[in-house]
Amino acid sequence: MTNRKRILILLLFLLFGQGMMANSHSKRVLLINSYSPDFPTYNNIHKAINEASGDLSIDIEFLYGKEHSNRAYFKKLQQLFAEKISLRPPYDVLVTVDNIALQFVLGMRDSLFRDIPIVFCGVEDRELLQQARLAEGVSGITEFCAFGETIGLAARLNPDLNEIVALTDNTITGVANFQLFNAYCTQFSEIACSNIDFGRTTYNDALKQLSKVTGDKALLLISAYRDSTSAYTSFQKALSDILRVSQVPVYHLYEHGIGQGIVGGKPISHYHMLKKVFDKIKASSTEWLMTDTSIVNMEPVEFIVDFAAVNHFNLSEKAIPDSAIILNKPTSFFKIEKSVLYLALVLVGFLLLFVVYLSITVRNRRRMNYELMLAKEKAEESNRLKTAFIANMSHEIRTPMNSIVGFSSLLRSTDLNYETRGQYCQIIEDNSNHLLALISDIIDISKIESGDFSFRLSKIEVLPILKSQVLEYQQKIVRLTKPIELKLNSEIGKDFYIVSDKVRFKQLLSNLLGNALKYTTEGEIELGCKLKNSELLIYVKDTGIGISADFLPKIFERFMREEDAKKVYDGTGLGLAIAKSIVQKWNGKIWVESEKGKGSTFYFTCPLQ
Ligand code: ADP
Repeated sequence: MTNRKRILILLLFLLFGQGMMANSHSKRVLLINSYSPDFPTYNNIHKAINEASGDLSIDIEFLYGKEHSNRAYFKKLQQLFAEKISLRPPYDVLVTVDNIALQFVLGMRDSLFRDIPIVFCGVEDRELLQQARLAEGVSGITEFCAFGETIGLAARLNPDLNEIVALTDNTITGVANFQLFNAYCTQFSEIACSNIDFGRTTYNDALKQLSKVTGDKALLLISAYRDSTSAYTSFQKALSDILRVSQVPVYHLYEHGIGQGIVGGKPISHYHMLKKVFDKIKASSTEWLMTDTSIVNMEPVEFIVDFAAVNHFNLSEKAIPDSAIILNKPTSFFKIEKSVLYLALVLVGFLLLFVVYLSITVRNRRRMNYELMLAKEKAEESNRLKTAFIANMSHEIRTPMNSIVGFSSLLRSTDLNYETRGQYCQIIEDNSNHLLALISDIIDISKIESGDFSFRLSKIEVLPILKSQVLEYQQKIVRLTKPIELKLNSEIGKDFYIVSDKVRFKQLLSNLLGNALKYTTEGEIELGCKLKNSELLIYVKDTGIGISADFLPKIFERFMREEDAKKVYDGTGLGLAIAKSIVQKWNGKIWVESEKGKGSTFYFTCPLQ
């Protein structure tokens, strides 16, 4: 297919394939775009059209200005365009995007669009702007490439930057922007400026040249669409070739391509320019637009930086402007998967709660098990004690009972003389007394066991009780004819009193004095009483058989009797256990000091209230 045929098909497509139905209620706008729908800026243009199409009825025409540069094409295109437009209802406003479209429309103004206001955007060609200023009803926005700020960004990201090499060609945009580049370069005294002109060499030679740019330099892509042979290269192809061969970072003045390997820039946004144009059209009457000749600059709004490209060329990440839009930044997991993160947090929360619940349950169960174990041990111990108690009791009770029963039956015998009968009666009486003491101790012990141990507090004068106890035991000593002297050693006065249970206090003294008397054959027994550390200390000291060191720790336990004492002396093994319970009732202490064969001293205390 020849080039001519191709152009014809393209023109027919433009004529019949484009255009949209007008909306009778809104302004009819014809937007003429300098380039093709494939050209990268179209994405942003399309976005602005979409947003405005609710209020405006917009038809679009593409001039394919990058692909075709010869006059013949545009002349033919104008003819076809005129025919096409004449078939449609009249437009209210004409919008042009970029240089070629304005140039194209101004060329047909007189013949075709005499009474239609023109609003342009994306124009930086000085001659064209001059032409626009002189025309009636032409207003618009110039394309203001941020050369200074884009070169400044390159210098920020690489503080050692020493040269910017512009990639230019001889398209209208290429030439106009190269002039501006040169003007801006003078602002940077430490950065040299040069260019590789695709318009003066073949495409491949230009690529070769730029591949040799190395060191602390950067490329600024201005325009690389057409080479010296007028061969057109699409932006995408040129960009991928440039990025493939370049050894230095590449910057750009337009949004397209940033994100594909270009480091960044402060690019022109066709979206923002067109949005402004459409807003103006919406807000103004056609008549007013016909009188409007304002031409305004619109500066690029924001820096755009490709984070991956910054890293690729080892540029300074920290120098990226805070306000910059950053592309290709590896987003942290937390940012990408917020919902997953929240879900995970909720799950972790539940798990934690579950773990806490489990640990509480386990702890409670352990505590319960421990308490059960203790209770079981206690029950076993009680059972063991009860069994031992019953066994002991049976033994302790049976012994005197046997004597009582045995000697009672012997008494029946008629051939007993008076003296023997008297001896038997004495044995029966002694055993009865022992049995009585035993039963009374057992009752006390069982009361202690059941917590029923009565304890009535009252004010008791201590000295009279001590004295009466001493007297009572002196009588017993006399009765027993033991060579023992019992004396009282009291340091308290007559009126000294404590608050306690009188009966139990007496019982306690009696237990200790009774033991002293029982386990002492001769010598001395002393009942002492003194005040010590705000307590009343009472002791019973004897010169009896004493207690072995091994037995001392068990002495206050029930039924504990030392072997040699058991063999010789009568007893229940309950007296000291009862004594300990009584002392504990008033929060006192009881203890013993003793040496085998030398005697013992039992102490107890009564707190003063
Ligand atoms: P018992 O009825 O056997 O005297 P106790 O509980 O009063 O029972 O005493 C327990 C044991 O402590 C006695 O069997 C004895 O071995 C020892 N004991 C108690 N008091 C004295 C003491 N004053 N001298 C020597 N041993 C004593």
